[in-house]
Amino acid sequence: TAHEETLGFQTEVKQLLHLMIHSLYSNREIFLRELISNAADACDKLRYAALDNDALYEGDSELRIEIEHDEKGRTVTVRDNGIGMDREEVIKNLGTIARSGTAEFLKQLSGEQQKDARLIGQFGVGFYSSFIVADEVTVRTRKAGSDKAEGVEWRSKGEGEFTVADIEREAHGTEIVLHLKKEAKEFADDFRLRSLVRKYSDHIEVPVRMPKVETAKDDEGNEIEGSEVTTWETVNEATALWVRPKSEISDDEYKAFYKHVAHDFSDPLAWSHNKVEGKLEYTSLLYVPGRAPFDLYERDGARGVKLYVQRVFIMDDAEQFLPLYLRFIKGVLDTRELSLNVSRELLQQDPKVEKIKGALTKRALDMLKKLAKDQEAYQTFWNTFGSVLKEGPAEDFANREKIAALLRFSTTHTDSATQDQSLADYVSRMKEGQEKIYYIVADGFNAAKSSPHLEIFRKKGIEVLLLHDRIDEWLMSHLHEFDGKRFVDVAKGELDLGEIEGEEEKKAQEETAKAKEELVKRVKETLGDAVQEVKVTHRLIDSPACVVLPEHEMGFQMRRIMEAAGQ
Ligand code: ADP
Ligand code: MG
Repeated sequence: TAHEETLGFQTEVKQLLHLMIHSLYSNREIFLRELISNAADACDKLRYAALDNDALYEGDSELRIEIEHDEKGRTVTVRDNGIGMDREEVIKNLGTIARSGTAEFLKQLSGEQQKDARLIGQFGVGFYSSFIVADEVTVRTRKAGSDKAEGVEWRSKGEGEFTVADIEREAHGTEIVLHLKKEAKEFADDFRLRSLVRKYSDHIEVPVRMPKVETAKDDEGNEIEGSEVTTWETVNEATALWVRPKSEISDDEYKAFYKHVAHDFSDPLAWSHNKVEGKLEYTSLLYVPGRAPFDLYERDGARGVKLYVQRVFIMDDAEQFLPLYLRFIKGVLDTRELSLNVSRELLQQDPKVEKIKGALTKRALDMLKKLAKDQEAYQTFWNTFGSVLKEGPAEDFANREKIAALLRFSTTHTDSATQDQSLADYVSRMKEGQEKIYYIVADGFNAAKSSPHLEIFRKKGIEVLLLHDRIDEWLMSHLHEFDGKRFVDVAKGELDLGEIEGEEEKKAQEETAKAKEELVKRVKETLGDAVQEVKVTHRLIDSPACVVLPEHEMGFQMRRIMEAAGQ
């Protein structure tokens, strides 16, 4: 082999390899899912590239994945005739981790097996998971459309370095040979491999084939020596899942497909599969994950759906089809409304994209509404993604009311930090004559719960929402009413309890205010410019005084955010 060089893995890769080998031991079968998934992606990419240039198929347009094994030699081979890689791509793709935030992510890992296994699962382990079962991996690949002499061989024991060399390679595409560790030799087994393919890759559209050896028999039923014929047998279902009718897809199939799309180990909380015909034609299959990806709050974190145009894969992470506040939704969109050569740039200009985005947003919100009927599952959702959904009213004016119905809060009704009360719950408990929804915003749950502003509300048994997330004030500045009832910050402006207070109470309050005029004057003189106004209040029961902001003033939380931003 020519032009051979040995290179070191990027530091992050070394760390990941080390952690993965130790923490994913009990999930080690996922290596096959990852390799098949990469092979399927490579086939998708070739099909897409060949739309413009048929020659890339090199006369072999029947895309497929092949899995072979050798029990004695302890190897498993995964082969595809997809796009392949050139030398530069091999070095980049199989020597570094390109995703941003990787270093941050690795820092979070604790060394505790169980916890790390979960985190690594979220991260998406990919190609490197080969080293959970293999002590040596060889990759042979050639980019479709390149010269036969431009093949590349990559080899590594997963211990810090890898070797790349130029090779001749007849076929384009990629072949990955795993030399299994002794303790993983069970994977070099026909039955085991077939069941793993069915378990993880049934729904992959590209056929996954395995060899079947048949031996002819003579009249007496004895095998005829030398008559072995190997035929390739497709092991998976090999039709795109979302194309099949809903009624024919089992829950397990939906779940397996989710794991493929989302690179997740765990089950989704909900899904919604829709085929829409007519003015706007599309098929969507959207999922609510059961846990947050590590980059949920990163600006350039992966988000969006896998985009297909008439079954042809176009791109991953097409983020134009869902609003930012639904960035946790995973899934697939297949549509004939876009052209096959659509690019990310073109997506931004196409008015059809806006229409589909509107439709998918509705689907996603409806799916959450349905999920909310299952309280336990919804709580899991809320604890994981609630603060992302709270960005909704600011971003999506048109769906404000729908989003509001999905929000959950802490309130004085439960006095618990768990956000599990809906606005509908609140409204159903409103006092006779109560017209408004009261809330307080503070830095933490305890600060909210023990605020003196709540004294009068507690005394009168009026419920108050206890908001204590960083984003809550931002949320409330975009949420003005729910079910026709205005939101009122109990720490701002005049306190008007409306019809809840009787005439007599109001009169008594006015009399007190009159009687204390002198006192108010003295306090005002003492405080001087530090305050705008001093007033007698009936907010308080036990505390002597409290600070109140004018109604339209920015709250404390927002001020701090603005100050931090240098404004
Ligand atoms: P991911 O699939 O999430 O990008 P992986 O670690 O699984 O991460 O793969 C890293 C990259 O290596 C892929 O993005 C792809 O560019 C390349 N790759 C892996 N397997 C193949 C393959 N069979 N054919 C072509 N490219 C591949
Ligand atoms: Mg992958």
